[in-house]
Amino acid sequence: MVPCKRCAPFFVFKRIHPPKTLICKGSPAQLQLYYSMDHGGIFYKIESLFFKKCKFCQDLLVKSVIENYLIETGEIMRKIFVAGNWKMNKTIAEAQDLLEAMLPQLAEIDNVEKGVAPVYLAIPSVVEQCRESGVKVGAQNVFWEASGAYTGEVAPAMVAEVCDFVIVGHSERRKYFGETDETVNKRLKAALAAGLEVIVCVGETLEENEAGLTAAVVTRQLTEGLAGITEAQAAKITIAYEPVWAIGTGLAATPEDANRVHKDVIRPLLKQQFGKLTSQQMRIQYGGSITADNAAELFAMSDIDGGLVGGASLKADSFVAIVQAASKVALEKKEL
Ligand code: PEP
Repeated sequence: MVPCKRCAPFFVFKRIHPPKTLICKGSPAQLQLYYSMDHGGIFYKIESLFFKKCKFCQDLLVKSVIENYLIETGEIMRKIFVAGNWKMNKTIAEAQDLLEAMLPQLAEIDNVEKGVAPVYLAIPSVVEQCRESGVKVGAQNVFWEASGAYTGEVAPAMVAEVCDFVIVGHSERRKYFGETDETVNKRLKAALAAGLEVIVCVGETLEENEAGLTAAVVTRQLTEGLAGITEAQAAKITIAYEPVWAIGTGLAATPEDANRVHKDVIRPLLKQQFGKLTSQQMRIQYGGSITADNAAELFAMSDIDGGLVGGASLKADSFVAIVQAASKVALEKKEL
């Protein structure tokens, strides 16, 4: 994208540091918000006269200011996101006990995004209990139709009525319930349309890994799974890279191997589809035998932005320890 001919000569901006004034004849409120929220109060002086009239260039300017910031500083802070996938575990009473044990400690941590995904039936009581705790609540699946004769299914609007996010494409759904890249895509689109945040799971099996097909499999899953998704919608998507051989086996990928997939396969694909800025802002979780012992090393990697945690999310002490590890890493990453 390039500015139009009329605006191009004025497409100049200078960084002011320390922050002083924001001079923008385009849309000061919007810019100010961007910077104070996302970019640590570093302001830019916008030298622009015509953007007020040209909506296209105004948007482009905001985008390029942010992109330039990223290029200049090499800095983009993605908030680490740790989500517990409880799978088919925990009755309502057990879920209440688990949350009672961990919410006080989780509520103290605000530099990490936290979430839990209980079974559907426990969701309302979990939502109630998590209120004010900063812990998001998600569903483990969603159907794509809005309503009708689909016994056993739950529609996106029904999930969105109570949940913040939903997980789609988990390898257990793919393995046991016939989930395909096409149905992942349908669920994703319907969930986004209902206003949900979505964790999209991808990952290769052991055989695929051993055959050297990791990149090809993940590329196919993402290309087909994210087909037709726009840049604006991408902001609500987290990718979870979960090598199937690592799920529930105690055999986590090494931080280096996982990071290689995140950095060299997934992020470039996101860049191709959504552009540089958006791809830099999107989070890529790792999932597969995360424990309190390996969490810090995994989260410290450049492109591992949190985790989707199965087994270790079912016990308060291990899930809290993983979130605490994430919090420590977040502080260290900020200081770099
Ligand atoms: C999962 O199922 O998403 C998962 C990562 O499980 P575990 O942490 O138990 O390997």
